[in-house]
Amino acid sequence: MKAAVLRAYNEPLSIEEVSVSKPKGREVLVRTAASGVCHSDLHVIDGLLPMGVPTILGHELAGIVEQVGPDVTEYKSSDHVIGCPSAFCSHCEFCMGGRGYLCSEQAELARRKDEEPRLAAEDSAYIRQFSNL
Ligand SMILES: [Zn+2]
Ligand SMILES: [Zn+2]
Repeated sequence: MKAAVLRAYNEPLSIEEVSVSKPKGREVLVRTAASGVCHSDLHVIDGLLPMGVPTILGHELAGIVEQVGPDVTEYKSSDHVIGCPSAFCSHCEFCMGGRGYLCSEQAELARRKDEEPRLAAEDSAYIRQFSNL
């Protein structure tokens, strides 16, 4: 699929082909219908909110679920969903206390370095996602 990839801060986004892997575990693959571009995205482009490059921005999305990982029970293919950059694990002390915005296990929401990346460039190089969305 085509995506707008931030390859360098303060540079135009690069429109290029990227590959998307199948969802694993609790991951949900969403076909984005539309996405806002908010100041958080612009702060990343300007280098004021360093997230590393290359990365794909656009975390305020609306779309349709295409596939779900084997451990997903809340969503199914064709569900209409929106994205939220405040991802949380749902099982740490903070999440269980209703304060997912303080989640202490956000690192587990990303794939490990030894796993196939969710998004990759044509040369198979890893591409980040804003907030692991
Ligand atoms: Zn935002
Ligand atoms: Zn949590």
